[in-house]
Amino acid sequence: MTQAKHITGPWITSVVFHDDRPATYAVHNKETAPDLVADYIPDEETAILIAAAPKLLAALIDRNGDLPPVQNGECRVCGREYFGDDIPDDGMCPSDDCPHTIARAAIAEAQPPDRMA
Ligand SMILES: [Zn+2]
Repeated sequence: MTQAKHITGPWITSVVFHDDRPATYAVHNKETAPDLVADYIPDEETAILIAAAPKLLAALIDRNGDLPPVQNGECRVCGREYFGDDIPDDGMCPSDDCPHTIARAAIAEAQPPDRMA
């Protein structure tokens, strides 16, 4: 995995008060605040979700690990078995509902297009 180019975590939220309209929320790096990640977020729930993004991404990357999930014809994540020509050459489970596949897709969505693995 290449080094992160985004503002590193942990991220925190803050309320931004305005004179002429309802308060909005912002997300900052916790240690280097006010390094701004996002601003003018309309609700707290969305700001909290954005602030959790670095931890969520790190957890998915850690959960998936470095080894391909299919070992000796069996996916160590979803338990599906593959035989003969159905064994994936790259070791990646081809099942769309395998948690490893879902996590891999989410990790790819969080990366710039040129870094998709
Ligand atoms: Zn699987």
